[in-house]
Amino acid sequence: MQRDLIGLRVVAVHAHPDDEALWTGGALAGVAMRGADVTVVTCTLGEQGEVIGDPFAQLVADQADQLGGFRVAELARSLHELGVRGEFLGGAGRWRDSGMIGDPANDDPRAFIHSGEEAEAQLAEVFSRIKPHLVITYGPDGGYGHPDHIRAHEITHAAATQCDVAPQRIMWAVTSAEALAAGLADIACIPHAWRRPEDGELATVDQHDVELMLSDAAVAAKLRGMKSHPTQLWIADGNTSVVNPQAASAGLKSTEHAIAVFALSNLIAQPLLKTEHYQLGSGTAITDSASLTAGLTW
Ligand SMILES: [Zn+2]
Repeated sequence: MQRDLIGLRVVAVHAHPDDEALWTGGALAGVAMRGADVTVVTCTLGEQGEVIGDPFAQLVADQADQLGGFRVAELARSLHELGVRGEFLGGAGRWRDSGMIGDPANDDPRAFIHSGEEAEAQLAEVFSRIKPHLVITYGPDGGYGHPDHIRAHEITHAAATQCDVAPQRIMWAVTSAEALAAGLADIACIPHAWRRPEDGELATVDQHDVELMLSDAAVAAKLRGMKSHPTQLWIADGNTSVVNPQAASAGLKSTEHAIAVFALSNLIAQPLLKTEHYQLGSGTAITDSASLTAGLTW
């Protein structure tokens, strides 16, 4: 592995534990392996999430309300697997998962959607301290419309104008419609209780500026990062855990585009792709459509 990114600083801003692996795990692990210093800033503890598996199902917000603390540990393991460091915006527990639009959790005064200028200043402090050359977050729709993802996008762009040294480039993680379709076509069979997505059900985009082809090591790290969030992500490779003692198995008829099949708690089968896609949010133009870092100076 070439250590050609030593000295490069990268910050990824994410809404919930698991987003770092799911949306950007390949890119983050890939640049970290090449020597970049990578920090994931996570804005909430993901308290409003659902739980996969029975043993820890009662941790959810409307029962024990202990899921956030549990997900702190899941995130720590994921960051370790990806080879990156992490911190919570404003310290762990400052901002709470807002839930989807219309969720009563939106009304909590700590809900991240109400984080206002305080969160912008907290992230600007992170950017001023770390001075990232490259920042990664979601696009204006948060990738799929979750209010906390949209808020993460908003504070990232606000903080980039308030910090001491503006990042050279901000990238948005997106799901490519074409790559998703190709990955879904690789799937031969899915677990019994799961289903395939309807056409257009998963949020996708038709255009991207960068298609990253993940190295074998990076995609393996991404898979391990995703597996570190068993309350949220179920990998259909026959594995079991204390969180989810029930194994699920899917079959691939080709590994051209996908290396595994996974689902969130909605049990909609998705391919774990060997590529990740990004749009340029702001800053230095993309000079190589296969690289997030080409054209940056450090
Ligand atoms: Zn999320």
